[in-house]
Amino acid sequence: MTKHCLMVGAGLSGAVIGRLLAEAGHRVTVADARDHVAGNCHTARDAATGVMVHVYGPHIFHTDDAEVWDYVNRFATFRPYRNRVKTVSDGRVYSLPINLHTINQFFGKTLRPDEARAFIAAKADHSIAEPQSFEEQALRFVGRELYEAFFKGYTLKQWGCSPHDLPASILKRLPLRFNYDDDYFAHRFQGMPEQGYTAMVEAILDHPGISVRLQSPVARADAAGYDHVFYSGPIDGWFDYRLGRLGYRTLDFQRFTYAGDYQGCAVMNYADAAVPQTRITEHKHFAPWEDHAGSVLYREVPRACEPGDIPYYPIRLVAEKALLSDYVALAAAEPGVTFVGRLGTYRYLDMDVTIREALDCGRRYLAALAEGAPM
Ligand code: UDP
Repeated sequence: MTKHCLMVGAGLSGAVIGRLLAEAGHRVTVADARDHVAGNCHTARDAATGVMVHVYGPHIFHTDDAEVWDYVNRFATFRPYRNRVKTVSDGRVYSLPINLHTINQFFGKTLRPDEARAFIAAKADHSIAEPQSFEEQALRFVGRELYEAFFKGYTLKQWGCSPHDLPASILKRLPLRFNYDDDYFAHRFQGMPEQGYTAMVEAILDHPGISVRLQSPVARADAAGYDHVFYSGPIDGWFDYRLGRLGYRTLDFQRFTYAGDYQGCAVMNYADAAVPQTRITEHKHFAPWEDHAGSVLYREVPRACEPGDIPYYPIRLVAEKALLSDYVALAAAEPGVTFVGRLGTYRYLDMDVTIREALDCGRRYLAALAEGAPM
């Protein structure tokens, strides 16, 4: 029997689940509070320069998941793109993630890979057997000098708390390399959609079974009348913050333009605590196949997320995790609603993982229907 499902949020989760259900013959309504689809990976051309802007900050597609890669390539033409990030620390520019070039630049050496490995091993704090925090993870693997030059200040600005209080898992996102590979990601498949992410999400949503409503916030009371709801908004928001608010970091983007090439790369990080921004993004370098004389840049300044701000990064400290588990218990008892995506599950998710989870979630729903035991 045909179902009518509501996707709250037109980001990757809502679009991918909606498409699966529509292709299986169900009716899908996708509602988003904003005036555009694609959530935080939304891209739009800057009116002044014509540059494709990553409106909510830089998004680079990278994955090892061949099915997810095939999926996105069904809906967009991807251009080869490798993220090569630089960082400014104490008035000098270095290569990131920390690689042999960074090590040799920073210490003024010409070490070969095995020499560098031994050199860094001698700086690492081996008394830390099992690193518990971000700080311990850094001290254990790169030592105090590199930690203080590249991670400490940046992380303080990014998360608004000491790296001592953050989980080691955040730093584990970054590799440490003893060769000159400066590719920020180690994934097999990487690229940038030629016409931006919004065009890709529009293509995913372009199906006769899907209707999209923009500028349409959905509250819990509006969900009645649908056979199932897939909610990709903030999990605490669905319950009207009744147990309290989960902590997020938000970002202020200070836009500026430049006649020419401002920094020569897409992303320049700023490691020092005294500089307010964590990074400056020069958007035209995300589309090197395009030619723009002018340039538009975002200076990115993180701060605590207040009611009404856009939530970006979930702060998963001990207190938040406890509150989250109370919300997860409420969510599990919520009939006919599945919580999905970065905000719905309050996790730091890359785009490829978001799509993988959405595919799995949509398939679970269809399988449960086929078995006569709807979710
Ligand atoms: N990080 C850092 N210095 C840098 C880049 C990253 O200390 O120059 C830390 C920071 O705490 C950040 C984490 O490493 O949150 C993960 O970095 P990633 O680039 O994955 O962050 P994202 O791109 O998700 O903002």
